[in-house]
Amino acid sequence: MIRPKTRPAARSWFHVAQYKTAAAQSSEPLLEPLLVRNPATGDIISSIEPPTSEAVEEAVKSAHRVYESGVWSKASPLSRSNVLSKLAQLLEERVSDMARIETLQTGRAIREMNAQIGRLPEWLRYFAALLRTHQGFIAPTQGKLLNYVNRVPLGVVAQITPFNHPLLIVVKKLAPALAAGNSVLVKPSELAPLSLLEFSELASAAGLPDGVFTVLPGRGPSTGAQLASHPLVRKVDITAGTQTGRSIGAIVGSNLAAFTAELGGKAPVIVFNDADLLSAVNGVAFASFIASGQTCVSGTRIIIQDKIYHNFMKVFLEKVGSIARRIGNPSNPMSSMGTVISEHHLERIHRMVSSRNSGKVLIGGYRMSGISPLDDFDLSRGCFYHPTVIEDVDVQDEIWEEEIFGPVVVVKKFAGEAEGVALANMSKYGLGAGVWTSNLSQAHRVADSIQAGLVWINTHHRNDPSSPWGGMKESGIGRENGIEALEAYSQSKSVIVNTATAEESQVQDDWFSEVGNKRRYG
Ligand code: NAD
Repeated sequence: MIRPKTRPAARSWFHVAQYKTAAAQSSEPLLEPLLVRNPATGDIISSIEPPTSEAVEEAVKSAHRVYESGVWSKASPLSRSNVLSKLAQLLEERVSDMARIETLQTGRAIREMNAQIGRLPEWLRYFAALLRTHQGFIAPTQGKLLNYVNRVPLGVVAQITPFNHPLLIVVKKLAPALAAGNSVLVKPSELAPLSLLEFSELASAAGLPDGVFTVLPGRGPSTGAQLASHPLVRKVDITAGTQTGRSIGAIVGSNLAAFTAELGGKAPVIVFNDADLLSAVNGVAFASFIASGQTCVSGTRIIIQDKIYHNFMKVFLEKVGSIARRIGNPSNPMSSMGTVISEHHLERIHRMVSSRNSGKVLIGGYRMSGISPLDDFDLSRGCFYHPTVIEDVDVQDEIWEEEIFGPVVVVKKFAGEAEGVALANMSKYGLGAGVWTSNLSQAHRVADSIQAGLVWINTHHRNDPSSPWGGMKESGIGRENGIEALEAYSQSKSVIVNTATAEESQVQDDWFSEVGNKRRYG
């Protein structure tokens, strides 16, 4: 297995030191290290030597060799299932360590990370279970034929993942890919690769053969693009911004490889007059500010019906103020919301807020600084952005149309159902959407009309290994989770056996016979 070298930074507790890499024997000069920072303090917490292009090439070839060897690709479903179950157990034992790493590298609140990482073993167990229950089939062909259909793996697959849920997104992709028998190369975000490197250490302990799962912590345009364009890579599965997905899709298409892309979003949340007010406020707050608004399904366009508007906004703004007052050290379990990922991202968010052409900021709209009232943490050092609510923006404004990926939401009032649905669909994205109402018929009618791959009714951002996840329009192509994901990491193989006797075959299958014309065709 190719492992990157990491150099712990001076103030780092991070201990991944056991990496050996093809780069060590490579003639290529070493690349600029990736410096991983804690966004809450600006401190460098790790320095990682990214793989050279020779190392990436060797990693792909080694993944291909191990695929061809059959040690994993042809292992029995039972043995693959056992390894995934063991990996789930090992991960379960390390949840709090992994959550701590995630908080350090992303600045997300530890409460969120403990909850999120705590659920990841479910994905490994779900696909382990699918392996034990998934069955091939016999096609009802004509004549004396037995046509059985199996699913076989694709080969070497590459997964390219973002910074916002570093381990969740890898595990969502990795579990079906490994279950199906592929060899997997993962390129994590350069901003947050540490939890995945730590997780990769569990893989061999779980019994995964060397070379079946390799982490390549390089940069997108170099390592990511090299992987995506490699002819031995038979599928690329990327979660990224829409622009990144589009550019990778073009490369993958030219190799005729499979492609799954989970891309950007701008989720609408429609709150109808008859919604339960407090549940809706709590749900919208969760939708909008979990992960500091850095999720692809963040409720960023809050569309509220006229009669509930005033009361909703009053309670919602109180809630947002309460979230802001309880922002402190992300490692503090009492902290309500963390940072955004980097200075660069914070500046972009603030530019979008301050250069808008319409709308009024009701709360927030600025970088947080000074001492946290929660725990005296110095917010000035980190990338903390005040949760922000902007009222009445034009639908042509960038802040309505584009993904902000920060704790910023826009709110808009509507009168009738048709207007609410039209506003919700007024977006190039179509990933997540929320509907809050106590009217059963309206709930289903509106869910049916919303152009999104995921619609939540009276809840938001539910995710489960069995529940399909993916977007319409410019939010991507393909789905994660469920049987669909396992099938997308495999391909059917149809085996057709002639069960006729030799005598029958001699008569029926001699197409060029000089006598008779009742011969089979196709
Ligand atoms: P990003 O597009 O900047 O990077 C994502 C990954 O792509 C990183 O690993 C990066 O190194 C790699 N990459 C970038 N340019 C590349 C290139 N030219 N070739 C190959 N790889 C390249 O995204 P991000 O800022 O890390 O993540 C945020 C984005 O991800 C948001 O748009 C968000 O909506 C989206 N996202 C989508 C989902 C979903 O399920 N649809 C989930 C999470 C995040």
